[in-house]
Amino acid sequence: MRRGDEALSGGGSTLEASGVGFMYDGARTKAVSSVTVAIRPGTLTSLLGPNGSGKSTLLKLLAGGLDPVEGSVALDGRDLDHWKPRALARILGVVPQIEHVPFPVAVHDLVAMGRYPHLGPWRSPGAADRDAVERALERCGVGPLADRPFQSLSGGERQRVRIARALAQDPRVLLLDEPTASLDMRYEMSIFRLLDGLRTEEAVSVLVVTHNVNLAARFSDRVMLMKEGRMAFEGVPDEVVTPNCIQAVYDWPALVVQQAFAEGSAPQVFPR
Ligand code: ADP
Repeated sequence: MRRGDEALSGGGSTLEASGVGFMYDGARTKAVSSVTVAIRPGTLTSLLGPNGSGKSTLLKLLAGGLDPVEGSVALDGRDLDHWKPRALARILGVVPQIEHVPFPVAVHDLVAMGRYPHLGPWRSPGAADRDAVERALERCGVGPLADRPFQSLSGGERQRVRIARALAQDPRVLLLDEPTASLDMRYEMSIFRLLDGLRTEEAVSVLVVTHNVNLAARFSDRVMLMKEGRMAFEGVPDEVVTPNCIQAVYDWPALVVQQAFAEGSAPQVFPR
């Protein structure tokens, strides 16, 4: 039984885009065109591609932050337009690439905001909410920063706090846009291990936009390679992380070798 099948019987959520596309105002071409993808329970999917290939736009379409000009996005078979925002926020967690937090706030309080969609009519947090916040802080290694003002943190610390807020939300689907961009090797590995644990232990459906082809190949069930707004290649890492696919997408020749890891063997890419 594949991980995804196992998770489906446990009641995970599936996020699907069908022929989805988007064009920014004033643009001459679509930033995303005719993309069909499914993010299934208990799987980790990596979305890769050169700068400007449409990854962030696709993630925003999947998150309901942009309305598609073609196609549709559905969560558990229901179009995103038909979900009440709070019900959607109880299932779908998003860590955007860029975020401005315009007000002074302590790390703990920012992470606790992830619980809002779960709070009852009086909006006061209970024991389960407090536990979720503590666990999220601890899992992202930001417990010691809990009392610090968010604004005083480094880029990498902020990144981990934003991931903690999404985890506190306890989502069944988690979308992350370059979550490890400003993290050093240790934290980058710990975030991929964390995402690995979320899919295997909690059947979360995870989509991560990343430039780290090698960690994507090592940890992902599926890899998607975008180019010029279209899905150029999609499949298991061994099908997609190949010299031909990598060169076709990045316009750079690549050497690909199989490397054994604790998680199993994975193709690893070296630019030639
Ligand atoms: P990626 O995440 O792969 O770097 P994006 O989805 O950010 O790609 O961008 C895809 C295309 O859409 C690029 O050509 C980019 O310049 C354009 N684009 C992105 N955001 C905007 C915007 N707010 N307004 C106009 N064009 C945009």
